Amino acid sequence: MTYPINCTRCGHHEASATGGLDWDELRCTACDEFHATRSQWEDSLAPSYTLRTLNLSRTLMLKMSRESIAWREVQS
Ligand SMILES: [Zn+2]
Repeated sequence: MTYPINCTRCGHHEASATGGLDWDELRCTACDEFHATRSQWEDSLAPSYTLRTLNLSRTLMLKMSRESIAWREVQS
């Protein structure tokens, strides 16, 4: 099985795993550069984690913005 990647060393776009376990390594099929473990690669695909992080930071930005406006109104 191959995994789509962007190799930072040679620009190749395929990696293969050294085995089927979570901690097995994904290496570029062209230059053998190490990229990640299988579980790291699978985690990077999970949309829920990325979106959750994005939503959390957006919520925090809105909260800070509101507090900043409220604080300026108190001062003036
Ligand atoms: Zn490579």
